[in-house]
Amino acid sequence: LLAERGIEVAIVEEHPEIGHPTCCAGIVGAAGLRELGIKPGKWVLNQLTGARFYPPSGEPIALSRGRVEALVIDRAQFDRELAIGAARAGATFLMNTRCVGFGRNGSVKLRGPRGKTELKPRLVIGANGAGSLVAQEAGLLKTAKYLRCAQVETIADIDANTAELYFGRGLAPGFFAWVVPAGEVCRVGLGVSEGILLKRLQNFIKKHPIASEKIRSARILHLSTGLIPQPLTREIYADNLMLVGDAAGHVKPLTGGGIYLGLSCARFAAEVAVRSLEANDTSAKTLREYERLVQKKFGAEFKLGMRGRKLLEKLSDEELSSILKLLDNPEIKALVLEHADFDHHARLMGALVKKGPSLLKAIGMRKFLKYLRYFA
Ligand SMILES: Cc1cc2nc3c(=O)[nH]c(=O)nc-3n(C[C@H](O)[C@H](O)[C@H](O)COP(=O)(O)OP(=O)(O)OC[C@H]3O[C@@H](n4cnc5c(N)ncnc54)[C@H](O)[C@@H]3O)c2cc1C
Repeated sequence: LLAERGIEVAIVEEHPEIGHPTCCAGIVGAAGLRELGIKPGKWVLNQLTGARFYPPSGEPIALSRGRVEALVIDRAQFDRELAIGAARAGATFLMNTRCVGFGRNGSVKLRGPRGKTELKPRLVIGANGAGSLVAQEAGLLKTAKYLRCAQVETIADIDANTAELYFGRGLAPGFFAWVVPAGEVCRVGLGVSEGILLKRLQNFIKKHPIASEKIRSARILHLSTGLIPQPLTREIYADNLMLVGDAAGHVKPLTGGGIYLGLSCARFAAEVAVRSLEANDTSAKTLREYERLVQKKFGAEFKLGMRGRKLLEKLSDEELSSILKLLDNPEIKALVLEHADFDHHARLMGALVKKGPSLLKAIGMRKFLKYLRYFA
């Protein structure tokens, strides 16, 4: 976006190839991509028309509106196409080059094929993931929080167009496990807020009473681990510096999805960056506008989503099962199918809260009040 506006851009990537290594289930909402003006390309591996939720106990619950809700993408190929777009717009790529330091004066220390070098750009955009080094060095991650995730690509026998989500404190405390059909393979992974990550993934693949029957544990083709940042736990700008994507914690709090959200917020970053560069003022005071625009569009999403996540973290397996079972209640299921939006969960939460009386009837007064506390 910056290069398209005629700004001189250097993209620094520590790996020799764009998009690799990758750690992502690759699910992106079809409507979100349309909003971003990104036309599906050869990176689309599959289309999802529904999801099946597996509570810690009881029967699974399937949700589908019978239409394509999301695409499963080849993330490396997708990133490569974005990079080609940037190159065509005039951006320079410094591949195999690691940013090893960020100075208070906005200088960036690099280590690459030409040895150690230093750049002094007018503005640095930290787009280097959840643990962003520039963000760390600028002191923006002091209160940052994360979930840890691991994922494999393997063969599994599941519906071709349905993502499966598995819940349980013993399985994936604070998050969930997934099996996502991605064309020729399935992506199987989980996130945790505590415990030994890889052991939990191994248990899911080999011992989960339902999932282990479907997943071929001896056919694992790829293993990756990664962090999911928690939104609203970090600053996203400083003098001469803006953060985008995971570096800024721009992910959906309930699912950790950051492709749409990161790209959407990056547009605000580009808009503010262009204006600041044109005005020759990249001070924190001027860049604050970026935060304002992000909060205006996604503030409620972050806040409500985080409250929902906090609630999920506290629920016992029994409570989790009874909440997921609500999706089988005809009135609530109809409401969910009417209001569910792949990228904007706050809309559904708002609709559910408005339907207080039916929720109260389905959950019972004591639990209703207990859960409501998280959203008050
Ligand atoms: C297991 C897992 C599954 C996920 N599934 C989904 C999903 O299904 N849908 C979805 O929307 N989101 C998903 N996400 C989140 C999504 O992957 C991220 O939100 C997204 O990758 C963020 O993109 P990014 O470009 O900000 O950061 P990254 O993808 O982390 O890219 C950062 C880039 O910076 C480079 N870099 C890092 N440090 C340096 C340095 N010092 N110098 C130079 N280069 C550097 C890296 O090599 C990398 O290319 C998932 C995340 C995980 C962990």
